[in-house]
Amino acid sequence: MHELGLTQHLVKIAEDAARQNGATQVRSVKVEIGALAGVVPESVEFCFEACSRGTLLEGSRLEIIFIPGRGRCYDCHAECALDTYTVACPACGGFSLERLQGEELRVVEVEVD
Ligand SMILES: [Zn+2]
Repeated sequence: MHELGLTQHLVKIAEDAARQNGATQVRSVKVEIGALAGVVPESVEFCFEACSRGTLLEGSRLEIIFIPGRGRCYDCHAECALDTYTVACPACGGFSLERLQGEELRVVEVEVD
């Protein structure tokens, strides 16, 4: 389950940010997860408690912001919703899709005491 390693990574980033601000306790963490990031948000939630134990994030609240996938066709320039199974443009059937949004996996906000 690679979400465990990713969650550890996110916890580390949030903890570093908190330390840089001189915080002793993190209250909440906001994380963006894109639909195309290859990560199951529920798994990150599941791993968060274990990963945050013994860190500044212990007992903090995890807020996940889910970013839907969007793409644009190189051929007809139509924009469309994308999920991991989308391979062709819904408008023209072309296979050249640019991913505009949905690969996010990042800590966007750390609220500290
Ligand atoms: Zn197209």
